[in-house]
Amino acid sequence: GARLIDGKAAAAQVLAEVRADVLALQAQQLTPGLAVVLVGEDPASHVYVRNKVLRANEVGINSFEYRLLADSSEQEVLDLVQQLNQEAQVNGILVQLPLPAHIDENKVLQAIDPRKDVDGFHSENVGGLSQGREVLAPCTPAGCMRLLHDHCGDLSGKHAVVVGRSNIVGKPMAALLLQAHCSVTVLHSRSVNAAALCRQADIVVAAVGRPRMIGADWLKPGAVVIDVGINRIEEDGRSRLVGDVDFDSAVQVAAAITPVPGGVGPMTIAMLMRNTVTATLLQQGLAPDHLSRHSLSPAPTA
Ligand code: NAD
Repeated sequence: GARLIDGKAAAAQVLAEVRADVLALQAQQLTPGLAVVLVGEDPASHVYVRNKVLRANEVGINSFEYRLLADSSEQEVLDLVQQLNQEAQVNGILVQLPLPAHIDENKVLQAIDPRKDVDGFHSENVGGLSQGREVLAPCTPAGCMRLLHDHCGDLSGKHAVVVGRSNIVGKPMAALLLQAHCSVTVLHSRSVNAAALCRQADIVVAAVGRPRMIGADWLKPGAVVIDVGINRIEEDGRSRLVGDVDFDSAVQVAAAITPVPGGVGPMTIAMLMRNTVTATLLQQGLAPDHLSRHSLSPAPTA
């Protein structure tokens, strides 16, 4: 059977590092601040925002919560982002997605000061990641990289297969793996022979949104499997969360695997806290290696 990659424990480790970094900053009269903007009544979004605020407070980051009504205009949201861009106590700005349909998500994300863009979705940061510059990287892929580095050490030369090509997970994941010197294959809904391609991978990152799609027949024996998927299904008359990987069969073949829940999920929030500290350093003109471990994407090489 595979080794279990414990995302809860890894997240606790990251949060402890962040807490230490926040204390070091506070000794210099700097307390990082995170603003979270929520528009509308989506119940899942409310839970996510509450968890982010709680986690921020636990590590000593100031949190500022802004709740706008579902029928707020695009201009109202843009005005709030502008105001937060100007506020010195706000080092990170997170606009919880999805936004109501009448608001242009991209326009709102582009309005965020790239140095406060703790989700890493501004085109300045997306482009910088692709160019191999040190930028704020999206939290979920950054969390997957941390798990991979913790469990595999050096990733250079490994063949990584990313299943899924979303802007939030798949594409930035591929960019980060490339920067860690992996050979990278990206599979998606139009891929032909996806299972056969995936069977060549040393590392598999699944970000598809299809319950248990990736079974043992997709995996090379000894592969390391990171399951980003979070899918709610009804089974045996009850509701439960499963990943994009068929855990029970994959665990027989893989060398190491993340569970769902308790794998990538807890890492995402921890990396958001890490990014908020990194953003604070960027705004202060301090080098990120000033503190324990930074979340900037690794330095480029040819
Ligand atoms: P998405 O719907 O934006 O993208 C899914 C991708 O999967 C697409 O690029 C599509 O091409 C690909 N795909 C669809 N069917 C496929 C198939 N049959 N074969 C190969 N590829 C296929 O989803 P997303 O936002 O990237 O999220 C993916 C999953 O990760 C979801 O379950 C989501 O809930 C979860 N997620 C988890 C976290 C976390 O914190 N752990 C964060 C973000 C997303």
